[in-house]
Amino acid sequence: MISDRVLNMEESATLAMAAKARELKEQGNNVISLSLGEPDFKTPAHICEGAKAAIDEGKYFAYPPVNGYKDFRDAIAKKLREENNIKEATGEHIVVSNGAKQSIANMMMAIVNPGDEVIIFAPYWVSYSTLVSLPGGTPVFVSAGIDKDFKVTADQVEKAVTKKTKAILFSSPCNPTGAVFNQSELEAIADVAKKHDLLVISDEIYEHINYEGKHFSIASIPGMFERTVTVNGFAKGFAMTGWRVGYICAPLNIAKAANKIQGQITSANCSIAQRAGLVAIESDLTPTFDMVKAYQKRRDLVYKLLSDLPGFKVNMPTGAFYFFPDVCHYFGTSDGETQIKDASDLCLYILAKAHVSLVEGGSFGEPNCIRLSYAASESDLREAVSRIKVVLEKLH
Ligand code: PMP
Repeated sequence: MISDRVLNMEESATLAMAAKARELKEQGNNVISLSLGEPDFKTPAHICEGAKAAIDEGKYFAYPPVNGYKDFRDAIAKKLREENNIKEATGEHIVVSNGAKQSIANMMMAIVNPGDEVIIFAPYWVSYSTLVSLPGGTPVFVSAGIDKDFKVTADQVEKAVTKKTKAILFSSPCNPTGAVFNQSELEAIADVAKKHDLLVISDEIYEHINYEGKHFSIASIPGMFERTVTVNGFAKGFAMTGWRVGYICAPLNIAKAANKIQGQITSANCSIAQRAGLVAIESDLTPTFDMVKAYQKRRDLVYKLLSDLPGFKVNMPTGAFYFFPDVCHYFGTSDGETQIKDASDLCLYILAKAHVSLVEGGSFGEPNCIRLSYAASESDLREAVSRIKVVLEKLH
């Protein structure tokens, strides 16, 4: 009954872990969930007010244009020109979707033919590999471990290019590692893309959550606009995960292809969510920067706490809100009852015994690591790590 496509598809590991944590919670356990990339802040009030006003205006009941309202697309393009230095961006290059996840899915369907290869920087965001495979593409992983601060180099990319390579896909700031590529690293990657006539799909959804300085967009490099799809969205920087607003800025032929696919599959993004996005993009970013300050404080706290855990190898993330420690020290240990073979066993053990949910790294392309999201309160973060410490001490 069920298609091979779905039978062969991986389930989202982050959502699966979140579901297990929810189950334990429903049984009355005090579970601390650090498994989802979900800001624990509320959407800023002025954005909610903007959405309410749009409902009250009574004008936004009808189908919006498939690629999004023109004023919204124009505002996004203006932001990209002014904040991201992507000078060529206009509203025609923008397609608004139901979250950045749909933007990437549209993109893969728009560009990938069966047999095409897409180079993915590993560790990578869970859905990339599946979204490349769905239209028949082959994900080609290029990895950098914790000792390299999880940053793939242009040389590595160059070595992975074949005649079948169509595109390069990565996020910066990166989920799950928190790595941020700087201008010169991106310039080197851009040179490889130009040399081999490749498309770059640059997922910049964490652009605001950057502790190192100003975000740099690869599409702003001369000659890159025509070969870059910039993916972004409102979920992380504006605490709007549930509103489901994402977008691409792409060369016109690719924007049109994404529009065509979206027109057949979902049509436009929700009208009211788009009005909320417009308010977010046109308003002062102070609430966003306040959230970033809070994340940075938590990052510093969690770095200290995790560095104190025996057997955890931790690096300092420079963006996003995740830690991705190497925990292979615990593989092959046991508490007398439970055997820990791998990161998945360790996460299940920590969930069962400490009631803290984390995600195993294999689904992000690095089986020695686990991902911890610090988009949680400081008190929950302290409590979570102290519970983890207690149960780790039982493993020998
Ligand atoms: N890209 C990355 C790197 C992400 O972490 C996420 C969400 N976790 C997305 C895309 C999807 O974002 P959205 O919620 O807008 O679909």
